[in-house]
Amino acid sequence: MFRPKRVRTRLTLWYVGTLAAILAVYLVGVSLLLLWQMETILKRLAAEDLETVKGLLYFEPDGQVGVREDYHHHSDWKQVQERLLEVLLPDGTILYRNARLGNRTVGGPPFAGEGEGGYSGRRASLSDRTPVILISRKYDLEGKTVLIRVGYQQDLIWNELKRTLLVLIVASPLVFAGTAYAGYKMVGRTLDPVTQMANRAEQINSERLNERLPVESSGDELGHLATVFNSMLSRIEQSFEQLRRFTADASHELRTPLAAIRSVGEVRLQDGATAEEYRDTIGSMLEEVNRLTSIVEKLLTLSRADAGQIQMQVSVFPLKALVREAAALLEVLIEDKQLTFQLTGDENIGVEADRLYVRQAVVNILDNAVKFTPAGGRIDASIVCQGNSQVQLSIRDTGPGISAAHRTRIFDRFYRIEEARTGAELGGGLGLSISKWAVEANNGEIGVSSAPRGGSTFWIRLPAVGCPPTSAPA
Ligand code: ADP
Repeated sequence: MFRPKRVRTRLTLWYVGTLAAILAVYLVGVSLLLLWQMETILKRLAAEDLETVKGLLYFEPDGQVGVREDYHHHSDWKQVQERLLEVLLPDGTILYRNARLGNRTVGGPPFAGEGEGGYSGRRASLSDRTPVILISRKYDLEGKTVLIRVGYQQDLIWNELKRTLLVLIVASPLVFAGTAYAGYKMVGRTLDPVTQMANRAEQINSERLNERLPVESSGDELGHLATVFNSMLSRIEQSFEQLRRFTADASHELRTPLAAIRSVGEVRLQDGATAEEYRDTIGSMLEEVNRLTSIVEKLLTLSRADAGQIQMQVSVFPLKALVREAAALLEVLIEDKQLTFQLTGDENIGVEADRLYVRQAVVNILDNAVKFTPAGGRIDASIVCQGNSQVQLSIRDTGPGISAAHRTRIFDRFYRIEEARTGAELGGGLGLSISKWAVEANNGEIGVSSAPRGGSTFWIRLPAVGCPPTSAPA
């Protein structure tokens, strides 16, 4: 099927096509109206003509019909002579035919009821096939009934119609040309902003994501399109920036342990060493490898989470048992630092979430608490219902606390508080961002507060099962 490439051409063609259809319907309508109108006029004229003729006729002694002498030059009679005129008896005997009709017949013998009780009108043809419109009526002339017929050539009507249609048809190419031109211009002007947008969009690449499309008028559809496109660009720019930062940070994180492994290895290789020293070196290299592994695992979790590849396997499980399990993983560290760990809360309160990821979130928070709390300090974990559909787990430590400025940012990826870093406790800055993702992916919330006397309290809230219906929020 013929389908022009450009929207502009397509719209113009549609425009002209629709106009042509409307015009065709209009022409048919005008013709019908014209025909109907001319027939009405004709019938009125015929009535007048018949009356005139009737008034001028008389019977001659020989039984034929004649026209009064004194009216031969009357204008009414002259007008009547323009028509085709026939006077006959009801039995078909011709009494009179005017000069115009000559000896042609018009309509043949009268049909039953012709001209009785009003005018009869019909289409007929003369004996020489000239099509006419025939109007007839019966009159009483000097005591005898005669039928007077007056005919009008149909050409009269057709010629009139043809002339009118011709004028309309001759004018239509002009109308089409005008419409096409105006339409083309109008569509062009409407589509101009689209072209501009396309040109601008073409220039936007990953290096120029800060550019935006021009928004000419924000109220209309095209303005809306540009605004939507621009906000999409903003989101893409943001994701790109995030990705760039993530990649840079990740490489940086991985470089440090790798550099450490290398330098430790190189130094040890240069000067001979005892088996004990080699074991030491391998031990510290393995420590770095462990750090690397943990960073890589965290990165993998985060990138799979970003890609939406992680499906939550929701189940209901008791929260207290899970916290106890997480603490058990850190038992050695807790004992090393002689920390006091206490867990309080109802054993039966359940959480509806993915157990594996909630455990990971809790382990990360506990791990930090253990890392940052000085030897001999304490860690308190408590489980409390919040209303009857949410439970809060708070983990409080007696570490350095977190200042307000950092509190909003510690959940960001790779964010670490520099002054809190003490050699062995170096982390990748990913633990809390994983906790945040895990809690939020399970319809929960996570946050932190710091007590004025130092120490920080991390809390997570999750959908709960088994909270007493009347329990008040803590
Ligand atoms: P890391 O793996 O480095 O611990 P996290 O994302 O777990 O990274 O934590 C980010 C930063 O938040 C840490 O570097 C630390 O400075 C701070 N932080 C986390 N938990 C605590 C805490 N209990 N007390 C003090 N600071 C903390």
